[in-house]
Amino acid sequence: TEPLSSRDPELFGAVTKELGRQRHEIELIASENIVSRAVMEAQGSVMTNKYAEGYPGKRYYGGCQYVDIAENLAIDRACKLFNCAFANVQPNSGSQANQGVFQALLKPGDTILGMSLDAGGHLTHGAAPNQSGKWFHAVQYGVRKQDLTLNYDQLQELATEHKPKLIIAGGSAIPRIIDFAKMREIADSVGAYLLVDMAHFAGLVAAGLYPSPFPHAHVATTTTHKTLRGPRGGMILTNDEEIAKKVNSAIFPGIQGGPLMHVIAAKAVAFGEALQPGFKTYQEQVVTNAKALADELMKGGLDIVTGGTDTHLMLVDLRPKGVKGNATEKALGRAHITCNKNGIPFDTEKPTITSGVRLGTPAGTTRGFGEAEFRQIARWIIEVVDGLAANGEDGNAEVEAKVRAEVEALCARFPIYPDL
Ligand code: PLP
Repeated sequence: TEPLSSRDPELFGAVTKELGRQRHEIELIASENIVSRAVMEAQGSVMTNKYAEGYPGKRYYGGCQYVDIAENLAIDRACKLFNCAFANVQPNSGSQANQGVFQALLKPGDTILGMSLDAGGHLTHGAAPNQSGKWFHAVQYGVRKQDLTLNYDQLQELATEHKPKLIIAGGSAIPRIIDFAKMREIADSVGAYLLVDMAHFAGLVAAGLYPSPFPHAHVATTTTHKTLRGPRGGMILTNDEEIAKKVNSAIFPGIQGGPLMHVIAAKAVAFGEALQPGFKTYQEQVVTNAKALADELMKGGLDIVTGGTDTHLMLVDLRPKGVKGNATEKALGRAHITCNKNGIPFDTEKPTITSGVRLGTPAGTTRGFGEAEFRQIARWIIEVVDGLAANGEDGNAEVEAKVRAEVEALCARFPIYPDL
């Protein structure tokens, strides 16, 4: 019965400080969001105590009648949201969702074809240090030199040459809409499966603002915590009965044991929220805000990779100002604006330095920022970056302090978790 504050003051202190950071600072990390009280309540519920290996109605433990309700709700709502016949909501993360698909459809040594990390792909799509790059023969496609958009010609050439068993669409830093029909055509031309990893833009798909992976994808994976605004976790979707069976055995007993039932409960809540009309309005605002942010940054003299965005995220090319991604991330952090350094396609800087930062609007939009606020944020970013350009890595402390105070004032106008 003892509350966290007295049971573990040290840990409670960290949580309180993290709440303060989220309340008083601007979150521009494209893969983050701010979940509802209801999602947190479900995740912090007694369902954390329950072992439930297996699937609803077919468990290896007794007493699963109530967690079965939670998992069935999550499955039904996911299928409704993405208009598909099957969902496995048990993957503990986006990485494990992808690993589950690999376990279902591939054998070690098989060839996979995914987008390279430096072009905007994800580690789990065949990057060398990742299991996907070590256990499979991973071939990587990228973007076109001339406009930095997905290189479908290269994709077709690599597919024809290497005959992959699986082609992966999607990534972590792709600002433009992917042509799933074209990717399926390429997959069909070599008899490959098409996996769409919609981790980043799943919320936009759910709201009808980004094309659905279906009917083109044989299987789709997603995280549940980015634009989808649920708890941290993953999910696998398909319309193919055979693949569905394989996916279920791949997740359990293939790569996971007892599912995180409290997280699955929170996924159910988040999917329920995403089925409400307000979610579409929210996602429309996410995209509008991203366009405004990109536009104002370009007005301030920064480049945006591909000249803008169709989604919730953008890659800022800092080279026109002569500053680096790592120094920019730190300087913006000092001004209480959080983002991450990110390589831009064909970046000549190391991944620890980079020529870019990645920015996204999902979290800011959740707290209520509109276009005006995001244009103001862009102008603050320009001020801080100009301070770096003029003064080197230490930046301009005076400008950063001024921006920090203005950021705090803006955040105070858009409070989050007021009753926590
Ligand atoms: N796939 C894509 C496209 C991602 O962007 C991410 C997360 O960054 C993942 C998979 C992995 O998700 P997680 O961090 O939950 O393992």
